[in-house]
Amino acid sequence: MSDNGTPGASGAPDAAAGAGGERHGGIGDGTRAVRAGLPEPVKYEPTLPGPVFAAHFHLPGEPTGPYTYGRDENPTWTHLERAIGELEAPGESGASTLVFASGMAAISAVLFSQLRSGDAVVLPDDGYQALPLLHEQLRAYGIEVRTAPTGGDAQLSVLAGARLLWLETPSNPGLDVCDVRRMVAAAHEAGALVAVDNTLATPLGQRPLQLGADFSVASDTKGMTGHGDILLGHVSCRDPERAAEVRRWRKIVGAIPGPMEAWLAHRSLATLALRIDRQCATALALAEALSGHRDVAGLRYPGLPGDPSHEVAARQMRRFGSVVSFVLPDREWADRFLDALRLVDDATSFGGVRSTAERRGRWGGDAVPEGFVRFSVGAEDPDDLIADALGALDKAAR
Ligand code: PLP
Repeated sequence: MSDNGTPGASGAPDAAAGAGGERHGGIGDGTRAVRAGLPEPVKYEPTLPGPVFAAHFHLPGEPTGPYTYGRDENPTWTHLERAIGELEAPGESGASTLVFASGMAAISAVLFSQLRSGDAVVLPDDGYQALPLLHEQLRAYGIEVRTAPTGGDAQLSVLAGARLLWLETPSNPGLDVCDVRRMVAAAHEAGALVAVDNTLATPLGQRPLQLGADFSVASDTKGMTGHGDILLGHVSCRDPERAAEVRRWRKIVGAIPGPMEAWLAHRSLATLALRIDRQCATALALAEALSGHRDVAGLRYPGLPGDPSHEVAARQMRRFGSVVSFVLPDREWADRFLDALRLVDDATSFGGVRSTAERRGRWGGDAVPEGFVRFSVGAEDPDDLIADALGALDKAAR
């Protein structure tokens, strides 16, 4: 493992994702993130144009694009969509990216624009805890919902005849991983489309379109924007017809981001590689420090060489994410641990520059033990964070 958290000695980087796992088309991820989506320089104009606040645009004559009405398009989204597109599919002009008001808006856009009454969809049963909320809605539209766990390619066992296979890898909060290439090959063979929720990895960690998926979907509320201050989501895909269907869904539902959020997101992307490299390296160091600790069970981090997912993760991921999960002996123990942390907020969500941790069992939606802790590693100095975590474990044991 290299010191920036990218697969090295312990896992071969994905050749298709870029030689050395870092560079594609001659530039590295950090360089690409800094420049992603910027327009051509114009004298006296800012490098990243400010947010455009407009419900409508001057539009004499025939009402054709690019900018007509604020629910259809906005120049600030255009810049952000180009930026995310450059990260999702570097060097590919054919891929489209659409931004949404939240990750759930992006997920719903793919599901409800692609599925029709009579179709079947395969969802993970250990993914983000709002997915089950969708089941009832999908069934109400006459769509059959099938579920299976992420690990061990289990979703393939219920794939026959399905229209869409939904993957979330690594899964939240259990951090299981499935082999995306293998799942895509089987799904395409069976005539199903594949969408990957890439929230945990971000496109710097894994590029679902390059692994063969039809849709890469994410909550950009997390690592992509990384400051815990905005909600946002996106969908990327290569097929222009699919993109048009998702765009149409966004228009009719109106699940659009505000221009200020879109601009803040674009500004945040410039530091994506810096943040993610730091966070992934510290997450690995934290996982190593917790590994073998007497009070810690069920430790999961896909970047940890001994993790059950490591081999598959190392084949398809370029960075292993900022989330570590583990189980403390019971609910009270976990609460004492969280209470004793000084540098880590007891808060939900993940991927931000400030570390957060929480006992997931408190929400009631995840099939996890009461002492299960999801720890999101931020950009603090690794030694400080690890000392804080180990100190809190000591205090929790007393
Ligand atoms: N997908 C995953 C894996 C998530 O963890 C979340 C939120 O936690 C979402 C989607 C939903 O994103 P949002 O809260 O931006 O709607």
